[in-house]
Formats: sequence, C-alpha cells, structure tokens
Amino acid sequence: MKSMIVCLLAVVLCIGCLAGCGSKKAASPLDKIKDAGKLTLYTEAGFAPYEFLYNNEVVGVDIEIMKEVAKEIGVELVIEDVTFDTICASVKAGKCDVGAAGITITEERKESIAFSDPYTSTAQYVVVLADNNEIATVEDLAGKDIGVQQGTTSDFMIEDLINDGTLAGATSSGYTAPAVAAASIGKLDAVVTDKLTAETIVANNAEKYQCFKLVKADGSDAAEVEAYGIAVPKNSPDLLETVNKVLERLLADGSIAAWEEKYNGIAKGLEG
Ligand code: GLN
Repeated sequence: MKSMIVCLLAVVLCIGCLAGCGSKKAASPLDKIKDAGKLTLYTEAGFAPYEFLYNNEVVGVDIEIMKEVAKEIGVELVIEDVTFDTICASVKAGKCDVGAAGITITEERKESIAFSDPYTSTAQYVVVLADNNEIATVEDLAGKDIGVQQGTTSDFMIEDLINDGTLAGATSSGYTAPAVAAASIGKLDAVVTDKLTAETIVANNAEKYQCFKLVKADGSDAAEVEAYGIAVPKNSPDLLETVNKVLERLLADGSIAAWEEKYNGIAKGLEG
C-alpha cells in the first residue's frame, strides 16, 4: 500500500513537471536580467586602466562599457569585485550575468563560456626595476622570481615556460593585482602582465620601474597577440548580441579609445 502511494505520488509529480515545462518556455539569460532589473558584473579591480579602485569606487574602461550595456538593456549595473581566476567559472555557473576584466579571448576559456567580439588588443609585457639590466628577454627570466596574476594568460605563459624547462629554476607567484606585485618588485625580480597595465604601473612610478614587450632572445614575440572580450554564458545569444551591438557603437565612435586614455590618466595619478 505504502509503495503504491509513493508510486502514485511520483507519477503525479512527473505529470506536473511535464505540464510545467510544456506551458512555459525557459526564460533566456537576457529575460532574467530584465526581470531582475539588474545586470550583475564580476570584475577584478586591480587592473588599471580597465578596472581599479578610485575613491572607493570601481572605475575603468570595462565599467564604462558595461554601464552602456546595462543602459541598453534598461537595467541597473551591479559590480562585484572578485578574484580574477574565479570570473569565468562564475559566468559559466550563472553566479553573475557577465564578466569584464580585461579577459583575453582564448580557446580554452571558450570551451566553458562565450565571448563578445574583441574590443582591445594587447601583448605580454614585463615590468622590472628601472636600474635592472639583467632582464631583457624572456629567457633572462630563468631562475628569477616572477609575479603574475593568478589564472591569467601571463600566469599560463610563465607556467608553460617553467614546465618546458625554458625558465629553469624560476618561480611564479599569483598576486591579487599586478600593481601589488609591482609594488613588491623588490622581493620579486619581474612582473609579467598585459601591455597597458604594465605601462600604467610604470607611469605611476617611472623612477622606480621600467617595462617592455616580452620578446625571445631572437627578437620574436614571446607570446601571441591577445584580444579582450566580455565573458557571457554560453547559450545566451540575445545577451551576446546586445553586448556586441553596444561594443560596435563604442568602438566606432571612439569611446573605448577615449576611456583608455582617460582612465590611464586617472590611474597615473594614483600612488604607485
Ligand atoms: N588579459 C589577461 C587574461 O585574461 C589578464 C587579465 C587580468 O589580469 N585582469 O588572462
């Protein structure tokens, strides 16, 4: 008798489920954002000029872009400052709606999330002390202690080079922000990060630091050219389309280039 009741209950539940699923199409990520009235952005505010703290507020190029996206959708932008290496996983898991943090579009990341069209290109740079004359090429980093932000393309590149023996004896440590790593460069030998961020670190404290593009001893680039994209969950073509539409406008009218200059200027004024 008991098991019959359980069976019956299960059947009723199943029918209920099927009816529920059939009657309403699952809301798309964009519909959910509209319903919630807010677009939740995950970023890592240690990556000037794209995102950094200024007067206790997260500002920067990515923030301006996402404000425009939120405006286009007609919702409020909610910014969460998290560690960089959690952003793509959080986008995938639906903990946030989008990720914007100078995120390089890579094939590996594309396996779990989707990317907008590219909006900036960059290259790997190295920051060293101004009086350093030991490190000029990527091979010179062998045996050195290198600062990289965890989970970034800089981190992956250095890790690969340590593993394949090119940088025998080197260590790499993940700092919350390249700027923090740069500030403690006395303890480290070099910091590897993206071009504009390296240039901002140097501009903050030109007497102390210098930076240059990471090249091999033969003069060729040490890493491929990279491009930034906004991370959105897979299966959300309507959200992706909205982000791309806004990016197209902001690239065409020069807003992104103007913000890069503006926030680079603001970041230069901060303590280095
Ligand atoms: N562009 C690099 C990456 O995506 C670094 C980004 C960052 O440190 N915010 O891995």
